[in-house]
Amino acid sequence: MGTKGKEIVGVDVEKLIKLLNRAYADEWLAYYQYWVGAKVATGRMRGIVAGELEEHANEELKHAGMLTERIITLGGTPLLKPEDLLEQTNCGYDEPSDPSTEALLKQNIKGEQCAIETYKKLLDFVKDKDPITYHIVLEILEEEVEHEEDLESLLSDMS
Ligand code: FE
Ligand code: FE
Ligand code: MG
Repeated sequence: MGTKGKEIVGVDVEKLIKLLNRAYADEWLAYYQYWVGAKVATGRMRGIVAGELEEHANEELKHAGMLTERIITLGGTPLLKPEDLLEQTNCGYDEPSDPSTEALLKQNIKGEQCAIETYKKLLDFVKDKDPITYHIVLEILEEEVEHEEDLESLLSDMS
């Protein structure tokens, strides 16, 4: 990053890169959990649920891209090995071993709630200190809130 661009970041840049990489790990794992969940989904409202999971998968991958760009601009390196994703994640990975749509929805709601908490903390960390990261994280947080809402409505449609 340029000299002035770096100067206006009012937080410990190394720490920020570490937090962004943790969120980056979450996004890849969420991407895969949604993507493979959409493939194996069975049971009630299968088509609708699989469609929503697939859409969310694409959005999580987009989030991973937004985070990588910021990590690189800040002079960091995104996690390079798949094993690092599992090691650095905040929210973990829940394998969709029960492919019923209801179980998948519950699992992914839990994941979204963890994502919302993670991004809220990250937002508080950069608030008034790094407007560019703040803007990126806010955009992602808005979509995670939407994801939770989408999944909760599908689950309530089922009961
Ligand atoms: Fe995401
Ligand atoms: Fe999400
Ligand atoms: Mg959606």
